[in-house]
Amino acid sequence: MEAPAILEYMRENQPAIVSLLRRLVTIESPTHEKAAVDEVADAIAETVSGIAQVTRHSQPDHGDHLRIEFDIPTRGDGQVLGLGHIDTVWELGTLERMPWREADGRLWGPGVFDMKAGVVFMIFAARAIRDLRLQCRRRFVLQLNSDEEIGSPSSTRHTKTEALKSAAVLVAEPSAGLEGNLKTARKGGATYRVEAQGVASHAGLDFAAGSSAIVELAGQIQRIAAWTDLDNGLTVNPGLVRGGTASNVVAERAWTDVDVRFPTKRQADEIADLFGAIRADDPGCSVRVSGGARKLPMERTDGVIRLFRLAEKISAEMGVPLGEAAVGGGSDGNTTAALGIPTLDGLGAVGEGAHAVHESILTERIADRAALIAGLVHRL
Ligand SMILES: [Zn+2]
Repeated sequence: MEAPAILEYMRENQPAIVSLLRRLVTIESPTHEKAAVDEVADAIAETVSGIAQVTRHSQPDHGDHLRIEFDIPTRGDGQVLGLGHIDTVWELGTLERMPWREADGRLWGPGVFDMKAGVVFMIFAARAIRDLRLQCRRRFVLQLNSDEEIGSPSSTRHTKTEALKSAAVLVAEPSAGLEGNLKTARKGGATYRVEAQGVASHAGLDFAAGSSAIVELAGQIQRIAAWTDLDNGLTVNPGLVRGGTASNVVAERAWTDVDVRFPTKRQADEIADLFGAIRADDPGCSVRVSGGARKLPMERTDGVIRLFRLAEKISAEMGVPLGEAAVGGGSDGNTTAALGIPTLDGLGAVGEGAHAVHESILTERIADRAALIAGLVHRL
């Protein structure tokens, strides 16, 4: 029954948690500003210097990624991976109109919810384990990426390497809803471009000599949009369309960009087959398809369910109810889950307003969320 003791530890340390969070939020870190993101990495490296080994993966364009291996009491050889990001979507100067503040039972500021609070909770989870001398079965490594908000182009390979060494991955992204649900499923996403090539002609003088790429594409779009299957969470959205040059010209070229979201890998494969089988209806036209999956889904596998049950049990010991949710957006958790590593996401702060001006976290839920992470690392 160490969960109540961990919760008590977090309550006592809440001023220190808020103080570190304030420090990180007041260093703005938009993904494209390397120097700014590096400053957050510096602050974190300094904070954990006495309790962890820090490896810095230097990046020429983006901020550096951090691998933090905490010195905690362990019996075994395995690894639990904490995963977070230190970049935000907020441009430099945002603090002037969205300043750090503590009001109405919340903490406010750019990146406080997505996800500097989650990063701070991970650090304090390790501190609790050390200070309370909780024997863990596995070592605890925290990887902090600097480029998650633009799709993790340079960090994904580090995420994969660490995930493959891990028994479980705990992702510090914000929780879902003001009740703080964990995220046990995330959709994957794909983008396809469908481009029709026809034959141009004068719409008045020589109409019959033309083959309209627009008419061809319009027919294709009708069929593509009908692949949406809301009951099974599959959406297919031709969200952008361009084509033609003038109303008196039979259009030579037209294209559409299609956004697809799918809860399972199987649906991703089926959709890829459908796009691959597209052929032109009009013999005077040709159709070319490019693109594919950007992110594979995080599926609610048996391993994910077992992780969630453990989290539920630890929360219950602290007297806190815990729910789960399936969400649309992707995170680095999709990458680790696609490797088959049990992944639990949404372990960060309880709050609302990710990427929005009312971004904030609930002060009264700081202690139990940080304690939940510590409890998971201890028992995994
Ligand atoms: Zn995030």
